[in-house]
This record gives sequence, structure tokens and C-alpha cells, in this order.
Amino acid sequence: MAAFNVEKITHVHHWNDTLFSFKTTRDPSLRFKNGQFVMIGLEVNGKPLMRAYSIASANYEEELEFFSIKVQDGPLTSILQKVQVGDEILVSRKPTGTLVLDDLLPGKNLWLLSSGTGLAPFLSVIRDPETYERFEKVIVVHGTRYISELAYQDLILDELPNNEFFQDLGIQDKLVYYPTVTREEFKTQGRLTALIESGKIFEDLNLPAFNREDDRAMLCGSPHFLRDVAGLLDQHGLKESPRMGEMGDYVIERAFVEK
Ligand SMILES: Cc1cc2nc3c(=O)[nH]c(=O)nc-3n(C[C@H](O)[C@H](O)[C@H](O)COP(=O)(O)OP(=O)(O)OC[C@H]3O[C@@H](n4cnc5c(N)ncnc54)[C@H](O)[C@@H]3O)c2cc1C
Repeated sequence: MAAFNVEKITHVHHWNDTLFSFKTTRDPSLRFKNGQFVMIGLEVNGKPLMRAYSIASANYEEELEFFSIKVQDGPLTSILQKVQVGDEILVSRKPTGTLVLDDLLPGKNLWLLSSGTGLAPFLSVIRDPETYERFEKVIVVHGTRYISELAYQDLILDELPNNEFFQDLGIQDKLVYYPTVTREEFKTQGRLTALIESGKIFEDLNLPAFNREDDRAMLCGSPHFLRDVAGLLDQHGLKESPRMGEMGDYVIERAFVEK
């Protein structure tokens, strides 16, 4: 059996010069946990050129959705950013990843801490009913450089809270959105680490500072972001899940690898 399914692009949306999203058909045999990633790619010079991508859609949806960077000289994304509806794309058959609810101990608040395209896996997690069954607050924190990079605001602020099914799960009181921007003036400005260190994020959200009893977290972002934010969680006494399949107070996935 081939390692990849050949899927078709069904929808493309460009957010700005550096980010786009797309949807694809989904082979019914592909099963995944919300928060996991797959390898996706294109055939280039007769060979598959594959990269890891978080699945942004939920596991009950008929199509797959991805949220992508456009790296101008990136081997894959310099081509991928030109895909159009009807084009073919390869999707691996083996999803994997650490950002799964199963690896978090029970808690009160779930912090989904992301920078850039690190938001992608959390788009899947916030579309999972179990998230709202397990936590009282689900806080989506998205750090970007520019306002135009704050993608998916409609989903988070409008679509999900107004979905009757999620309303029955109390989403309107539970789902909280906290965007922050570093290089432009914005209502919440600055790096997430600074907002945690100063306590501003907790003041703004009217929540106590991270504590092991109440708080669980998932982290996805640049290597720097992960190192710095994980360091702060450690300082507050939270413990990382030691490995896939073992529970902890927080779990981490890289949004990309620095080459
Ligand atoms: C577990 C995992 C999940 C990932 N999920 C996603 C995802 O959902 N969406 C996504 O766009 N990318 C994701 N990536 C990154 C992705 O695998 C590729 O690196 C990206 O698509 C660029 O591919 P490329 O061949 O064009 O350039 P590459 O040669 O892969 O990367 C070139 C350089 O571009 C920068 N870069 C790469 N990806 C990003 C990014 N996402 N944000 C900012 N800078 C970046 C880095 O400096 C990198 O060294 C993920 C990576 C990992 C390890």
C-alpha cells in the first residue's frame, strides 16, 4: 500500500502575502486525533516532496484543512502556495503528534498557546466537543507579528460560539480568544513571554497566574517561542508530558524546524 493518499484541493483562501489555508478531500480510511499532524506534499520531478502539517480541521469533518506559511524560497511552499481547486496533493496515511487531549491531566483551564502557524492544531482542538467537556475555560492565545496574520478570527469569535451544538456545551462562556501582535499597534501588544512575565495576560483575562492545580497547556510555535514559554510554565510548577502517551500538565509541538 502506498504511504500517501492522493487527495484533491477543494478550497483555497489567501490571508495575506505570507499565509494561506486550503481544504482537501479526505480518504475515509484516514483516522486522526484532533491536534495531530500528517505529512503532506506534492510530486516534484517525479518524487514526493513532503513536509509535516498540523491538521486544522476536526476528525469528524469530511474534508481536511491546513493553515500554511508561504516561504518564498521554501522547496514546498514556494509551489504549494500556487495550488488551485482541483489540483492533487499527497497526504500521508499515518497521523501522529503530541498535542492531544489524552496526554493532559484533568484540569480547569486549557491554554492553547501559539505563535504564527502554530495556531493550526488548535483549530482542530477547539472544534472538538471533548475539549469543552473536559475544561471550564479554553483560552486560545495567538501571537503574530502583524494584525493581518491573526487568521481564523471569524471561526473563533463568531462561527463556533454561534454553533448550536457547541452552545449546548457552554462554548460562549468557555472559549476565550487572546490575540497579541508584536510589530504593529494593537489592543494587546507584545510577546507572549512578556505578557506572562508581567502578569498582564492574567489581568486582562481575569484569571490567576499559571498554577499546577488548575492549568493545562498545549504549545505550538517557533523553536524560540516553545523554549521561552515552556520555561515559564516550568517556573510556575507545571510539568511537561514526558513522552507521547503519558500524561502531563502541558504538551509541546514545533510549528516548524529552523534549518
Ligand atoms: C510537527 C510539525 C508541524 C508543522 N505544521 C505546519 C503547519 O500546520 N503549517 C505550516 O505552514 N507549517 C507547518 N510545519 C512546517 C512545514 O513542515 C514546512 O517547514 C513548511 O511548510 C515550509 O516548507 P518549505 O519546504 O517551503 O520550506 P522549509 O525548507 O521546510 O523551511 C524553510 C524555512 O522556513 C521557515 N519556516 C518553515 N515553516 C514555517 C512556518 N510554519 N512558520 C514560520 N516559518 C517557517 C523556517 O525558518 C525554515 O527553516 C510543521 C512542521 C512540523 C515539524
